[in-house]
Amino acid sequence: MKAISLDLGGSHVSLAVVEDTTILMSQEISVDAGGELLPLLPIFKTIVYDMLAELRIPVEDCIGVAMGCAAMVDRATGRVLSTNGKFEDSPGIDLPAWSREEFGLPFALENDARMALLGEWYAGAAKGSDDVVMITLGTGIGGAAMAGGKVYRTKQVQGGCLGGHIPALFTGRKCTCGGFGCMEAEASGWALPLIAREWPGFEKSRLATLDRIDFRALFQFAREGDPVAIGVRDRCLHVWACGTVGLIHAYGPELVVFGGGVMRSGDIILPYIRDYASKYSWIPSGPVRILPAALGNHAGLLGAIPSLTDVVSDANAIPA
Ligand SMILES: [Zn+2]
Repeated sequence: MKAISLDLGGSHVSLAVVEDTTILMSQEISVDAGGELLPLLPIFKTIVYDMLAELRIPVEDCIGVAMGCAAMVDRATGRVLSTNGKFEDSPGIDLPAWSREEFGLPFALENDARMALLGEWYAGAAKGSDDVVMITLGTGIGGAAMAGGKVYRTKQVQGGCLGGHIPALFTGRKCTCGGFGCMEAEASGWALPLIAREWPGFEKSRLATLDRIDFRALFQFAREGDPVAIGVRDRCLHVWACGTVGLIHAYGPELVVFGGGVMRSGDIILPYIRDYASKYSWIPSGPVRILPAALGNHAGLLGAIPSLTDVVSDANAIPA
């Protein structure tokens, strides 16, 4: 099966033609994080048709167009319902109609964390496991869950995809979601500079010399013995570990997969979380496996086939 796959990030969009678990061709373009989606659609169309031409694949050989985006989406209607400062015009766009008009194909829209989970389940670290939680550690923290080989969903579109907003500290910092002390507000890329600057002794830390405090620098300085970096790092590890226990208790997965850019330091992060989760989770069935994602940035693109296989069987999404 072949499909067209689009992965909308905050600062870039990846476009690909995929066949089963293989990316036949892909292209990445930089976009304005706060910009609009509508002006990009003709660019997407051109890139997709150029790739199909180069691959000598007729568009009708594809089963559909799949799109992952960092938003709450209604999969049944293919509509974006709520964004968090990215592509604010997207709720007004009829993306299934765009897909029908420009490609003559069904359209599957999915939250980016769910799409990454589908990709890892179909072609990566979660292959062969049907009860899975995926957590992506990056600028924000994404979460998605799967039970019995089906993405966890409820009538409320956020069902299962707000793992990053599991409260980790009820006295904690205000989060972008409106809540307080979420895992994301206490240990994510956007929260990290706020956490570091409040840390006692911050002004003496090497972190204070940086224009932009990120996890790469945090882990590096901690490895080199900077006491503030060690303190902040260990606090973040603790937050992620507590959040993981929360997700294990909520969804009862056999496997938790960690992805996202922060996982460059997975050699520190995963042993800590495995140890914590094995000590502090109530799991009579035995330890939950905790693995790094295997597909990196390709996870979302490779979620296309499983996400479309669902939608193509849904009469509402098949073109008239
Ligand atoms: Zn939150």
